[in-house]
Order: sequence, then C-alpha cells, then structure tokens
Amino acid sequence: MNIHEYQAKELLTRFGIGIPAGYPALTVEEAVEAAKKLPGPLYVVKAQIHAGGRGKGKFQELGPDAKGGVRLADSIEAVESHSREMLGNTLVTIQTGDAGKQVNRLYITDGVDIEKEYYLSMLVDRKTGRIAMVVSTEGGMDIEEVAHSTPEKITTIAIDPAEGFQPHHGRAVAFALKLTGDLNKQAQKLAKQLYEAFSALDCAMIEINPLVETKDGNLLVLDTKMSFDSNALYRHKDVEAMRDETEEDPMEVEASKHDLAYIKLDGNIGCMVNGAGLAMATMDIIKLNGAFPANFLDVGGGANKEKVTAAFKIILSDPAVKGILVNIFGGIMKCDIIAEGIVAAAKEVNLSVPLVVRLEGTNVQKGKDILANSGLPIVPAEDLGDAAKKIVAEVKQAA
Ligand code: ADP
Ligand code: MG
Repeated sequence: MNIHEYQAKELLTRFGIGIPAGYPALTVEEAVEAAKKLPGPLYVVKAQIHAGGRGKGKFQELGPDAKGGVRLADSIEAVESHSREMLGNTLVTIQTGDAGKQVNRLYITDGVDIEKEYYLSMLVDRKTGRIAMVVSTEGGMDIEEVAHSTPEKITTIAIDPAEGFQPHHGRAVAFALKLTGDLNKQAQKLAKQLYEAFSALDCAMIEINPLVETKDGNLLVLDTKMSFDSNALYRHKDVEAMRDETEEDPMEVEASKHDLAYIKLDGNIGCMVNGAGLAMATMDIIKLNGAFPANFLDVGGGANKEKVTAAFKIILSDPAVKGILVNIFGGIMKCDIIAEGIVAAAKEVNLSVPLVVRLEGTNVQKGKDILANSGLPIVPAEDLGDAAKKIVAEVKQAA
C-alpha cells in the first residue's frame, strides 16, 4: 500500500526526522489557511498524487508552458493562484502514464534554501533478504537514470536483521553522501531514525528524494515516498487509515474489499478460479490454446455465493473481456454453492459474453444440474483441457 507525501512526512516526524513544516489542503481556502500558519516568505505548493516526477510533470489542461506539480510561491497570493490552477486538473508525470492523475489534494510547505540535494532510500532487498539502504550524492533526479548512466554513484548498504542497525551502518551512509563535520553526524542520526521507522511500521520502502542540505547547514527531508507490506497492515490501523482508494486501480480496490486476489492482465479471457496454483495453471492452459487471460483471479478456498458474484462483476466490468472461463475445484467450497453463485451473478449482470464452466469436487453433479437448468447459455466442460479449448473457440467464434 502506498500513501501520500504529506502522510509519509507525518509518520516520519514521529521518529524525530527533520522535515520542513507543512499542511495538507483539499481546497484553495484550506491552502491559503495552511500558508498563513507557515512563517514564509517562501512557500511550496505540492500536488499530492501517488506518483513521482511531479516537479517536471505537466498539467494536461494547462498547456505546455504551465508550471508542474511542485511550485514555489513567494506570497500567500501566489499560493492561492497556484492552488486554484492545480486543484481538479490532471497531472501527467513519467510515473503516471499518459492518462495522468487528477490532483485532489495539495500540500503547502515551507520553502527551503537548498545547498545540495541527495538521495537516500530503504527497501527490502529480495536478493539478500535484508533491509538495504540505497544512497547517492545525486539527489533530486530520476534515480533509475542515475543507476543506468552512473552506477558508481550509488552505494547499497545491507543490514543483517539479526544484527539490526549498528553505528557503522550510519557511518557508511554519511560517508557515501561525502558529508563531513556536523552534517556527517546528522546523516548518521537520520539513517538510524529511518531504520527505526522502517522496522516499526513494517515498510516495504521509504524513499527520500531529495534529502537536502540547507544553506544554514541542516539535513532535511524534502520529498518522501513510503509503501507498506500489506500483510502487516493489520498491525498498523493508523497507517491503514491513510489509504487513499481514489489513487488505486478501481477494479483492484473492489476486489480487495471482497478479499479476492485480482490482478488485471492484457488478454480477453476472464478467469475465475479458486486457489493461486489452479489459477496459474488455468492461465497457462489458455495460453497453450492460443489466447490470453484478461486477469488473474483467485476467489480463495472458502469463497461463498457473495464472493463469487462480486468476482463475476469485477471480471465483467473489464471491457476487454470477451469470454469467461470458470474453473473451480470444490473442496471446502461445494460445487452447488458455486453454481448458484454463477447463475445468480450471470443473471444479475446480464451476461453478454460466452461462459464456460468447469466444476470438479464435492457435490459436482448437483452443481452441474443447477447450471444446466438455469436457462443460461453456459457451456459445461469436462476437464481443464476441454474447458480451455471451448472458451478459446467460443471467443474466436464471437469475434
Ligand atoms: P517530485 O519528486 O515528485 O518531482 P519533489 O518534492 O522531489 O517532487 O520536488 C521536486 C523538486 O522541487 C525537488 O528536487 C526540489 O528541488 C524542489 N522542492 C521540493 N520541495 C521543496 C521545498 N520545500 N523547498 C524548496 N524546494 C523544494
Ligand atoms: Mg522527489
């Protein structure tokens, strides 16, 4: 799960990390109120979307000459006019894709006199199975570009979880940033605080870009992105409450509400399967028959009628879907219950594409009877190979 910059900054502040003051705003009025609480005379108005590259981004509606999604303002009036221009408009950055993202929130923060920009992030490195810190003197720019063109300017420091954060890790970070004197000490302290935040909040990633050295000799976090391990969110209700669903794929949000594992893919055959392994096998066999799956969808072992109906609606809300293959092994979940769910859902959504169903397991005959007597044009299949062949043929025929 991702959160906004202003939320990440609020969390990091709890760990004593140095961050310029700032307030979120949903309206122009709130933006002005926020600016009035800050000392001034320099403010920054920042678009809050779940994507980076905002500074260099472009507003779709404002033409190529308009400023991006991070704007300096030298007066309250400038804060007001920038806020008016940004709110409600669509910001396109290298991370949003061409469609961009609508700006519904702003963050009004202190303008900082920057001496130099650095890069510092922390993530779970799957290769080493450790939390790694990634450090670079080249801050403020696209780190992927730095990694590509000047990889020697990036230092990675892995922390053994059994050992935890040690002073030498802090010194390695400060050294990689080429900092001396008091700034060196500040960097060591920041690395430690960041590790504490990362572990305590079960983060997947914290990225600070840029971390800045100010003209008056302080290290401050100017921009940060945080993401969390979803499996640990139950331990952090306050973090979970920061979720902004308007920033996520609507179909995946809907799926997660029903506890369905759904991932949108590029093909045109919708799949509804129970169990991740069976779902993978179903996708494979669709491909083997020359077509492509439109999604991965695991309804889980204990799915009920409501879950099946929800899954069906999600699959059908994807306009790319030209046919549906249901492949269910009724173990804990009985085939007749599944069949009832399929029939109810198909009736409710006014099924307009071919549907092939393969059921196996407990009460399979009862299930097949329910499908056959439903009056719906459901194509029954005997086994997985048969099911895949049938749905591919049905979709080809309909095209
Ligand atoms: P993004 O990474 O989405 O473009 P940033 O917050 O990193 O957004 O902002 C882009 C650039 O704007 C920064 O690299 C920095 O130079 C400048 N900037 C951001 N916040 C401030 C601030 N509070 N004061 C002064 N400059 C800032
Ligand atoms: Mg940034």
